[in-house]
Amino acid sequence: ALSLQGIEHRFGANRVVKGIDLEIAPGEVMCLLGPSGCGKTTLLRIAAGLEPVQQGRVALDGHEVAGPNRAHLPPEKRSVGLAFQESALFPHLSVLENVTFGLKHLARRERIPRAMELLTQLGMADYAERYPHMLSGGQQQRVALARALAPSPRLMLLDEPFSSLDARLRDRIRDDTLHVLKTLGTATLLVTHDPEEAMFMADRIALMRDGRILQVGTPFELYCLPTDPFVVTFFGEVN
Ligand code: ATP
Repeated sequence: ALSLQGIEHRFGANRVVKGIDLEIAPGEVMCLLGPSGCGKTTLLRIAAGLEPVQQGRVALDGHEVAGPNRAHLPPEKRSVGLAFQESALFPHLSVLENVTFGLKHLARRERIPRAMELLTQLGMADYAERYPHMLSGGQQQRVALARALAPSPRLMLLDEPFSSLDARLRDRIRDDTLHVLKTLGTATLLVTHDPEEAMFMADRIALMRDGRILQVGTPFELYCLPTDPFVVTFFGEVN
């Protein structure tokens, strides 16, 4: 589970995150939704530990990882999985090696079965021996997701992971990804500017504007019981 409390962030004089509280339960997919520049990526980077906490507190499964009591636990010690829009795979490693790379903590004989399990769930088992340059963008994205999920992170952080894909591919990867996340029971924070994606993927949506969260709730609640005119405007764009 992820807990963000009182998070504030500035770049120079520019206040980009303005007092954010957010809780994500184990197995819950939370979509952080909002227009370009509202601070979504910054908040995700703070949760990951890629950006220092200037004010507030980040806790994972009840343990503070950044905040007043603990200086800063680095990203690699947080048990978070990361996948971005253009997640780069290691070009000199095969698909299988890309996924086993993050499994050094497992006994050698457990690594390949674990990696193959994830590749199978994401429809990439037949490509295990290929190299990244031999894959399409969508296939590379599937491998990047398998690589991020293989170590069973406590928290998955996804930043527009499907936005470079064409519509037909995107629907299938969304389906498969959701299935894996639900099977593993991983708490997930998914950043998107696309209300339709949030409606499809989210257990709950946090709608963000200008550094603040305007409303948190189920897709139904945001769509049917909006608490702010901006929520209505934003969802008006869903076709
Ligand atoms: P997008 O959907 O376009 O990625 P976003 O909601 O993820 O946008 P952020 O990337 O978090 O928004 O950026 C929030 C604000 O902070 C923007 O005004 C951006 O220009 C600014 N910003 C982000 N990173 C930095 C940085 N490293 N230095 C200075 N300003 C930054």
